[in-house]
Amino acid sequence: MNDIRRLESKLQRISGRGYKVYKDIAGKYVFDNGMILDIHHVQGDPFASPSKIRIFIPLKLTGFTSVLFNNRVRRVAFQDYILRVFAKEISRFSKVRGTGKSGLYFVDAGGQEILHRSDCIISEEFVEIRFTLGLPARGRSVLAQTAIDMFCKEVPKAASQIRWENFNRKEAEEFVNTAEDAEYIRQQLPSLGIVAFIADGSILPRRSGVDSRPLEKVIPFKSPESLRVEVETLHHGKLVGMGIPEGITLIVGGGFHGKSTLLSAIQEGVYRHIPSDGREWVVTIHSCVKIRSEDGRYIYGVDISPFINNLPLKADTKFFCTENASGSTSVAAALIEALEMGAKLILIDEDTTATNFLIRDARMQRLVEKEKEPITPFIDRVRELYSKLGISTIMVVGGAGDYLDVADTVIAMESYIPKDVTQKAKRIVEEMPTRRISEPTEPFEAMMKRIISPKTFTVRKSHKVKSRGLKEIQFGTEVIDVSFVEQLVDNSQLRCIAEMLRSLSKKRTLSSMKDEIYEMDRSIREKGFDALTGTPAWGLAYARPFEVASALNRMRTLIVQQEEGK
Ligand code: ADP
Ligand code: MG
Repeated sequence: MNDIRRLESKLQRISGRGYKVYKDIAGKYVFDNGMILDIHHVQGDPFASPSKIRIFIPLKLTGFTSVLFNNRVRRVAFQDYILRVFAKEISRFSKVRGTGKSGLYFVDAGGQEILHRSDCIISEEFVEIRFTLGLPARGRSVLAQTAIDMFCKEVPKAASQIRWENFNRKEAEEFVNTAEDAEYIRQQLPSLGIVAFIADGSILPRRSGVDSRPLEKVIPFKSPESLRVEVETLHHGKLVGMGIPEGITLIVGGGFHGKSTLLSAIQEGVYRHIPSDGREWVVTIHSCVKIRSEDGRYIYGVDISPFINNLPLKADTKFFCTENASGSTSVAAALIEALEMGAKLILIDEDTTATNFLIRDARMQRLVEKEKEPITPFIDRVRELYSKLGISTIMVVGGAGDYLDVADTVIAMESYIPKDVTQKAKRIVEEMPTRRISEPTEPFEAMMKRIISPKTFTVRKSHKVKSRGLKEIQFGTEVIDVSFVEQLVDNSQLRCIAEMLRSLSKKRTLSSMKDEIYEMDRSIREKGFDALTGTPAWGLAYARPFEVASALNRMRTLIVQQEEGK
């Protein structure tokens, strides 16, 4: 008897019995065509998390040629694409057939970004796809016939669509080529002396804060001539667009003219986007971090002294800790934490950043003496960040004109079209000198390095990991609020971060936050997500070290030590 007949008869035998007997069907089954079905984990009841299933489709059967996945970027993109196709095919069959999740299929396929995901792996021999399904029951009794339909008809039917002959080949090739070209452009940015590229014709605005598909009927992006650069691609010829130079760049303009939209596109330019997203040719250097104010966040052991000193009650700002940060301390901490992880480009939107962190104007300087003001505003540090540490800044400024003094490039948004107004800004600086005095400050010290204390993870209760939307990561009993970590774009990234925290919690000794996180990062890139979890992982997507650190930094049990001499 072949394996599939064996599965069928197993199911028939348990028909109508209590849900728990579903456990008997766990295991691997080989189909006649060589496809392997692995019923990896069986749920405990119809309402529980759905059962974890994998299929291994022999690569030979698929007809996929290695051209589609012959380097890391192409492989990641093609795996992502396969998941999307499988999700579409299996969703035809997904409907509630009984109690709870009975009869439903769930595939963790992506949105607008092309991400490395745990749920599709192309190996030497197989295309492996992971998904979950609700084992069907009426009340608590097994609905065998429905289960047989699912495993023996529907899953094989959807799997049979994972073939080159059944694919929309043009679309698949374009998907992979687009990802590869975005990365190819990214590699050219340093030699062009720019930190971000926005191609002419890009569509930047999104439908809404919760719908990241492109807005329709909009004004396409068009670069000003003086900032125009040309980049090479492998599959799309030469592309022309705006290059934002290294250094300090301001995005200015009237309210509602598209400043924040441009900055958001740049912050998401660290990701590769799907064809027709509109931002597939908006490309930013990898080490780009958006920072912002976040009242009430947790901060532990961050050296914010370059920005904040002499706090009332003598709070230590070289090792700053709080359960309840203010607008200015939160953004200062976010900046230092980003630098700790190696950020080379900082993005700031005046809309979401405490004014007193950004600027103190001449009148305020006169009114409140320096000795009484703990804050050294960003305007007096931003130049030093670049000249001394090579860290560029792109900043949206609507109101704080004093920043013209420190800018290298000024871009004005006018009805969604950028103009280079750098020369005009320079003339204004000469004609209308600001009366503010740049505040003498101690030089920016070398970057802090913080060692994670294993005590961070002493609550070793059930390490339940979960994510709620893009807002919260649940890790054990701890709920981490990441709603202001703006460069998280996919729920599965939050689950991945939770798994990374779990992996850290298992270690007896920990080194610096930077080293620990980059080590896990390397392991995920080289060996995949299973190396992190130690068992096959479902529903994870890659998150950058910056976002992983952001989550850890907001975990209210975090304890660190600063390394001496740093
Ligand atoms: P600002 O930050 O300058 O106040 P926003 O970036 O928030 O402006 O943009 C204001 C509105 O204009 C948003 O609703 C946005 O979706 C829309 N918008 C942005 N760019 C474009 C565009 N190129 N074409 C049409 N509408 C746009
Ligand atoms: Mg705005």
